[in-house]
Amino acid sequence: MTNYFKRTLNRQFTFLLLVVSLVIVLVGGVLAVYGMSIQSSYQAERERKLEKQEIVFEIDSHAKQMLIRARGYFAFQNNEELNALYREIDALNVYIERFSSLDLSAEELALLTEIKTTIHLYQTIHLPEALSLVSNNELDRLSAYANSGASDTVNQLIENTSNYVLTISEKAAEISSSYTQKVSILVSLFVIFLGVVLLILFIVLYKMIKQIGKPIQDVTVAAAELAIGKDVSLKSHQREDEIGVLSRTFLDMVEIIQQKEDEMTQQNIELKTQQEELEHKQDQLIKSLHETEEMQNVLLKYNSLNHAISVTLNKEDLFDELLTHLSDIYPVDKMLLFLTEETFYRARGIYDKHVTQLLNHFDQGIGLILREKNNYHLVEREVTDVERGLAEGVLTAYDLYIPIYSSGGELRAVFATNRVGKPFLQTEINELSGVMNHMSIAIEKVLMHEETEKERQLNQDIIDNVNEAIQFVDNEGHLLQFNQSFCQLIECEQKAQLKAPFSMWFQALEHVVGGNEAVASFYNEALKQDNSSVLSMNYEIHTKQKRIFKVYAEPVYHGYNKVGTIFVHRDITKQHEVEQMKSELVSTVSHELRTPLSSILGFTELMLHRKLKPEKQEKYLKTIHKEANRLTNLINDFLDLQRMESGGQMYTNESLDIRDLISEVLTRFEAYSEKHTLHFINLAEKTIIQGDSERIQQVITNIISNAIKFSPNGGDITTTLASNSTSLFVSVKDDGLGIPENEMKNLFRKFYRIDNSDRKKIGGTGLGLPICKEIVEAHNGTISVESKENEGSTFIIELPLNDCSQTLKAEGDSPKTILLLEDDQSLALLLAEELKNYGFNVEHFSNPATAITFVDTMASHLNSTHSPPLDAMVVDIMLGDELTGWDFIHKIKANNLWSDLPIFISSALDETEQLTRHSEIESYLTKPYPPSELSKTIIKTLNQDKTRGEILIPKRKSEI
Ligand code: ADP
Repeated sequence: MTNYFKRTLNRQFTFLLLVVSLVIVLVGGVLAVYGMSIQSSYQAERERKLEKQEIVFEIDSHAKQMLIRARGYFAFQNNEELNALYREIDALNVYIERFSSLDLSAEELALLTEIKTTIHLYQTIHLPEALSLVSNNELDRLSAYANSGASDTVNQLIENTSNYVLTISEKAAEISSSYTQKVSILVSLFVIFLGVVLLILFIVLYKMIKQIGKPIQDVTVAAAELAIGKDVSLKSHQREDEIGVLSRTFLDMVEIIQQKEDEMTQQNIELKTQQEELEHKQDQLIKSLHETEEMQNVLLKYNSLNHAISVTLNKEDLFDELLTHLSDIYPVDKMLLFLTEETFYRARGIYDKHVTQLLNHFDQGIGLILREKNNYHLVEREVTDVERGLAEGVLTAYDLYIPIYSSGGELRAVFATNRVGKPFLQTEINELSGVMNHMSIAIEKVLMHEETEKERQLNQDIIDNVNEAIQFVDNEGHLLQFNQSFCQLIECEQKAQLKAPFSMWFQALEHVVGGNEAVASFYNEALKQDNSSVLSMNYEIHTKQKRIFKVYAEPVYHGYNKVGTIFVHRDITKQHEVEQMKSELVSTVSHELRTPLSSILGFTELMLHRKLKPEKQEKYLKTIHKEANRLTNLINDFLDLQRMESGGQMYTNESLDIRDLISEVLTRFEAYSEKHTLHFINLAEKTIIQGDSERIQQVITNIISNAIKFSPNGGDITTTLASNSTSLFVSVKDDGLGIPENEMKNLFRKFYRIDNSDRKKIGGTGLGLPICKEIVEAHNGTISVESKENEGSTFIIELPLNDCSQTLKAEGDSPKTILLLEDDQSLALLLAEELKNYGFNVEHFSNPATAITFVDTMASHLNSTHSPPLDAMVVDIMLGDELTGWDFIHKIKANNLWSDLPIFISSALDETEQLTRHSEIESYLTKPYPPSELSKTIIKTLNQDKTRGEILIPKRKSEI
């Protein structure tokens, strides 16, 4: 049986655990049962005592109550008290009965007997005796009876019961203290029991440590010894459990390992020998790997060099790339690569002056040798002092020149390199020659590319300078080329659009043409068409101003293949306007001419072929006269406008009172129409202006005549004159047809007439308002209109008051001097008169040479503190002399004294010719021009000091 447990640790520990648990359960159980029995017997005893105490207490209190009731009755003979007395006696008997039913001690039995006897005596003898005395009202005897000891027995009983209650309480306390004592004994027993259990556990654990921990520790130490190669000092255990088996197995293992170790050591020695051999081989492999890597590096560098050479498209980068790569591959000191036909080179480690020296003597020196040898040239020489550096003794420098030939065999470039102290190997020379062969192709390519690029740029510049927008689109719709004007047309960024697909660039164009579908179909048709005919269409663009373009599309062929289509967009806005005007002119003029002409013809024929009464004749002649007048007016209007627009209109310049002028015009209109009432309101303080009275009258007449014409139902025509500090305002208001909002902007266009049914019957040429505008603007004024359709219109003319010229004249306190260079004597006289009229001194010269002499003499008499006594110059350009006006101006401008002088150009030369020759000119006035314009411009300029020094050209009247 013991062997059964000895064999495994598992069983030993299970058995031990069972025994310990059993002991704990048994002892624990006994202690628990004992504890419970103590507690229950204590509780039973305590309850009994309490019950007895309670009953005796009740007997005591009822006995006291009985005596109190009896005395109450004896004193007052109250039946209530007597009844209460009997109830107390009954209650006493009940409790006496309960007390006697309990398990009583001898002492308690004696008490019970005393109680019973006393109550019995009281009930049967003393009470009846006392009651009879009361009922006989023998109270003296009753008190004697009471004092004779009748109630003493009861009092004694009460005292005894009270004592008993006290005794019982003491006994209960005794029981409780004995119970506490027993419980504390039980607790002590339990503590002892726990101590014993812990002791057992400690013993068990100690045994375990001894039996398992120690042997395992021994095995661990032995394993560590084994690991570090020491002799193992473990003893074999004869135990039969796992520890015994473990130690024996471990010792067996140690034995086997030691045997194996010997074998291993042997094998190790062999392996070491093999390893040494392998390491040797590895060293060799690493060496050859390094060599291969170096080779690979060189190859990579060559590769990157080849790549750089083949992709670079400009010679600066190409030469730089080559030198950078070669300096990486070859250990050389200096390098130079240069072109033979132009001065272009790149160098490393060489001063520019040395390069220049080599290049200067190239054709007679190295160039000659290279051309003769047709191969590289190697120079071996002693080093110069600069090259020697720190080295001592004999030191050689090697210069290598490798020629680079074009495909035609001409010397195109040379690569020169140099090394000090280390000769060039033949392999290096061969490699470098190979690189230079590649280089020759690359140089050829780069030069060709440069040439092509130049040509391309030239072509681009040419087409960029063409006014027409040009685009070339391939068959798939890609935008391959376009010029600046096209870019401006579609509002593009040039770079972003190159090679753009159709959808992209056409979207921009479509946006500009406002989604015009005709343009889209034109492009589709043009891209598809495969014959050499030219397509064209007109379209409008809706940018800031409305412009009209004509686009031509022509296919481009390479051989028989269509490679794309060229589109040319020409701005024909001006042309279109002119054409429109022409057609308007033709239709208006033909209508306006034909109508009066047909009346004149009709009536003259009538008069020629028929005999008419003198009254009829007169009537017809009057009609003919009226129609002829109408024709004359139309032709006059037309010619007036033409003259004004071409600058040929001469205006007189006089002070005139516009109030008188308006009154005069209104008087003429008074009898004109019965339906209309003419009013004139003058609110102006100043009414004098400077101008041409006939022309101003023409304007006012025209405006009032329109007001009457376009109020067919009659009404009031009110002319108002008002002024502010600088301007005079003439307004003519009518209650007529008014002008539709959308027509306002066109009113002042030539031949423009509002085309609606109300106005069909009203004659006119559409020239009246443009003429008015021309005249008003020639007087530095403006004309505007405010109108509401069907309510009437107000035309407002603003003209500068005469004050302006008066101010200018006032400045004449120190009269200003103008130099006038003009060879036309009569014009010079006119201009001089005009200028003198404004208080200027005029120095007139008809040829530049005398003017220059005058100016020089004047300059020599001046010192820098004096300001020059010249204020402006008016110069004609074509002077019929050797010198032109421009020569004179350049001469004047070259002198610091006169460089700030404003110069006004007055010329009869063609405007465009001058504009192209002198780009600073913004506009040009071709003679003849109104002299008043010249004087006004001069006065304005001199009054604004800031424009001094500019060359000014009197503007066209229309631009002022
Ligand atoms: P014409 O009077 O010969 O037709 P204008 O140049 O004087 O030419 O006027 C151009 C157009 O302007 C007229 O055809 C007319 O439709 C309009 N117009 C001019 N003045 C008035 C006005 N007071 N009320 C309404 N429309 C006017």
